[in-house]
Amino acid sequence: MTISDKLSGFMEKSSWIRKMFEEGIRLKQESGEENVFDLSLGNPVIEPPEEVRKALVEVAQDVSPGLHRYMPNAGFADVRAVIAESLSPECKVELSANDVVMVCGAAAGLNITLKTLLNPGDEVIIFTPYFVEYLFYADNHGGKAVAVPTLDNFHLDFTALENALNEKTKTVIINSPNNPTGVVYSRKELEQLADILKTYSERLGNPIYLISDDPYKKIVFDDVEAPNIMGFYPNSIYITSYSKDIALPGERIGFVAVHPQCEDTGQIMAGLIFCNRVLGFVNAPALMQRVVKQVQNVTVDIAQYRRKRDFLYKELTRIGYEVVKPQGAFYFFPKSPIQDEVEFARRLAENKVLVVPGRGFGLPGYFRVAYCFPDSVIEGSIVGFERAYSA
Ligand code: PLP
Repeated sequence: MTISDKLSGFMEKSSWIRKMFEEGIRLKQESGEENVFDLSLGNPVIEPPEEVRKALVEVAQDVSPGLHRYMPNAGFADVRAVIAESLSPECKVELSANDVVMVCGAAAGLNITLKTLLNPGDEVIIFTPYFVEYLFYADNHGGKAVAVPTLDNFHLDFTALENALNEKTKTVIINSPNNPTGVVYSRKELEQLADILKTYSERLGNPIYLISDDPYKKIVFDDVEAPNIMGFYPNSIYITSYSKDIALPGERIGFVAVHPQCEDTGQIMAGLIFCNRVLGFVNAPALMQRVVKQVQNVTVDIAQYRRKRDFLYKELTRIGYEVVKPQGAFYFFPKSPIQDEVEFARRLAENKVLVVPGRGFGLPGYFRVAYCFPDSVIEGSIVGFERAYSA
C-alpha cells in the first residue's frame, strides 16, 4: 500500500462521520434531498449574524496599504488586544495581547499547542466520549492520547482521572460545552479538576497543562454557566474559535490564550508562535482577524438552538430514548436501544435518518445526533426515530 499503515488505520478509525456522509449522499440521490434527515455533521446551517456580514463588507472595502501582507505569526496586535480585553473578565485574570495567538480555527489551536508541549511518548488525557480528532492531533506531535471514561451522565469521573495520571501525563484536554454530549462542566467540577491537577503536578514534579478546547463556549442554554478554566487553574491554555458561535467554520479563525501565570508562559507563547508558522498554515487569515475584532460580543441566536434542543429532547424522550439533556453545544448523545449502535444507526438510515455511531467518539452503545439544522429536517426525522425504536 502506498499510504502509511498508520494513516490507513487512522482513516478507518475516523471513518464513521465520512461513512454517514457518503450514506447521506446515496440516500439523497435515491430518495430525494427533502426525504432524508441528515443529523450527522456538526456544520451549522444558521447564517452568521448581520453584524458579521457588515464587518466583513467594511473590512473588504478598506483600501489602506499593507492589509494583505505577511504579519507577525501571532496575528495582528490590535486584534489580540481587543480579544484579551474582552476575555479578561470571564477568566478573572488580566490578559494582554501578548497572551493571545490568532489561529486557523480551534483545530489549528490544538495542533500548535500540542506541538509546543509534547515530547515523544508524552500522554494527553482526553475524556470519553471525545472529539475523535484529538487522537490524531496527539499523534501528529509524537504524543499518546489516553482516553479516560466519564460518569453515566458524561461528567468527569475523578477517580478514573486519578488512575490515569502519571509521570508521562503532559496535558489534559477538556471540552465544555461538549461535543458529542452537550454536557457543560460546572464551577464545582472545574474546581475539583484544578485541585487534582495541582496536587498531581506537585507530586510528579512537572506541571500538567490543562487545555480547554471550547469552540462551543457561548452556546449554552437555560442560563447555565460555562466557566472559563483560566479562573481556576494557572497552567491552563484556552482554545476557541468563531466556527460555531458566529457560524464561520469555513473561514478558519480562532485563537489560543495562555494564562499569564502559566509556568514557562514566555517559552510556551514563543513555541505557539513558532508552531503557527511551521505546520503549513503560517498565520490566521488577515481579513477574518479584522472581522472578528469588531464582533467580540456577537453570537448567532442561541435561542434557536435552545428551541431545537427542547423539541428534540421532548420527542426523543417521548419515544423512549434514554438521553442526557444537553446544556450547550448542538448535539445529543442518546443511548442506543440495542447494544450494537452501528446496527441501530443502520436501522435509522433505513428510515432516512442519519446519525453517527458512538464508537466514532470512543463510546460504543450510543449515537450522536446533531441539531444545527433547519426545523424541517429535525421535525422530519421524528418518524424515523419512532420507527427505528419500535422495530
Ligand atoms: N473541538 C471540538 C470539540 C469540535 O467539535 C470542533 C469542530 O467541530 C473543533 C475542535 C474544531 O473547530 P474549528 O472548526 O474551529 O477548527
